[in-house]
Amino acid sequence: MRPIKNIHGDKAPHWVGDGFYVKTLINHLDDNPHFNYSHTDPFLLFDYGKPTTFDPNPNYKTQPHGVGQHPHKGFETVTIAYEGEISHADSVGGQGIIQKGDVQWMTAGRGIMHEEFHSKAFGQCGGVFSMVQLWVNLPSAHKLTDPNYQSIKRADLPIVELIDSSNPDHQTTIGKAAIIAGAWQEIRGAANTFTPINLWDIELHTAGATTLKVPNTHNTLLLVQEGELLVNGTSVSAGNLIQFDAPTQHRTDGQAQQTLATDNIELHYPATENGKQAPVKLLLLSGEPIGEPVAGYGPFVMNTQEELRQTFRDYQTGNFVK
Ligand code: MN
Repeated sequence: MRPIKNIHGDKAPHWVGDGFYVKTLINHLDDNPHFNYSHTDPFLLFDYGKPTTFDPNPNYKTQPHGVGQHPHKGFETVTIAYEGEISHADSVGGQGIIQKGDVQWMTAGRGIMHEEFHSKAFGQCGGVFSMVQLWVNLPSAHKLTDPNYQSIKRADLPIVELIDSSNPDHQTTIGKAAIIAGAWQEIRGAANTFTPINLWDIELHTAGATTLKVPNTHNTLLLVQEGELLVNGTSVSAGNLIQFDAPTQHRTDGQAQQTLATDNIELHYPATENGKQAPVKLLLLSGEPIGEPVAGYGPFVMNTQEELRQTFRDYQTGNFVK
């Protein structure tokens, strides 16, 4: 079992632009000795917007809620739209709408400018909005890769049925995991990644128990988005991010991911007295640490201060994304 190291409680939310009301659960710029980038590598930033109701926006055509043109360089942004829709457009000609349940895996690489807004349809009607944006670092060998998108529809995510391990004879399905990235035994996630990463969107709807298996080389985190359950025997409720102990092994060069030993994370979803189970929603993040120095500021994440200064010079002199 991979023990829990820390549970990071509810944080105050803040606005990103005027469209995204999020809690920043991971931030590589934090210098907390117990929870900094060395504990979350390769995940740089993790913003979670819990379900929040927006009124219709009367100016949805000309002044959509969100964030206008801004740059990114040196990493990837992963956006999951749980409720509502996000429209995006960028400097390399990509544009589209991330619809409910869809995932956009955007590689900023050597540089991209883009905008992120509520879609026109959502702005016109309003409603419940909930999303995740995760920043995944790129190793130095790929920091300057070409910008790219992976637009992943919910229907294209491989789904694993979770069988109740507390009563295996009955083969009761207690929930499911959508494999956005990584591998669940032989099942490969939908997204291509530059370094080994698992991103699993998990939902439990029926009381029971199940086990998650993560490589013992990965930094591992679990967000409880909705509901309450026991994780390795500890009760954890919505809004909390679980940080597990550091990886016990480092992968040696050339060692295949599939040959790695795994650690167990035990999930137990207790039955309620009235028999009504409010769904538990979880997001598991695990990744092999890149282990390189990080020089980051705002939307740029490089390896050295000089690379960061050069990026700012390029941006200020109009030489970014040329
Ligand atoms: Mn952005």
